[in-house]
Order: sequence, then C-alpha cells, then structure tokens
Amino acid sequence: MRPIIKANLPARCIDCGRLIYPDMRWQVGHIVSVAAATRAGWTVAQMNDPSNLGPTHAKAPGQRACNQIAGGKLGAAISNAKRAAKARSFNW
Ligand SMILES: [Zn+2]
Repeated sequence: MRPIIKANLPARCIDCGRLIYPDMRWQVGHIVSVAAATRAGWTVAQMNDPSNLGPTHAKAPGQRACNQIAGGKLGAAISNAKRAAKARSFNW
C-alpha cells in the first residue's frame, strides 16, 4: 500500500531549497540523513519523525533527484543533526 501524501505545492525542497512545483515529481526525504542521524545517535523513531521529513525533488526527465546527491551535504547534515538533537531535548 502506498501512503498518500498531500503537499501544498509549490513547496520548498528540503535538499536544494528551491521550489517544487505541482508539475514536478517529488518524494519524502529525511532532512537529517539517516547516515548522519545514526552517527548522532538518533533512534529510528526520531529519524522518521514528521519533523525530520519533508518534500524533496525526485528523479524525473530533465530533473535531478536532490536526495540522491550526497556530496557536500554531509558536514551540514551533521551540524543540523546536533542542532536538531538539542532542539529535541525538552525540560519537562
Ligand atoms: Zn531539490
């Protein structure tokens, strides 16, 4: 079964920051990559939390798949993971 996700398009791509228009293909991606989140000690539940998911350009003719371009993202992902982990700790 495929989950049906409705996005308000145009939406901002979590990977390249450019807009995703209604005629473009997109998919749900991790804002902090699974690899970076694993290194930062996140649980699977934290990685797949809606707050870590967002729309990203999917592969299509004439369009690159943003989340399949890993190079250069790693450093930012690690610092984002640290920042996100900090934001996730609540003092109840
Ligand atoms: Zn993109």
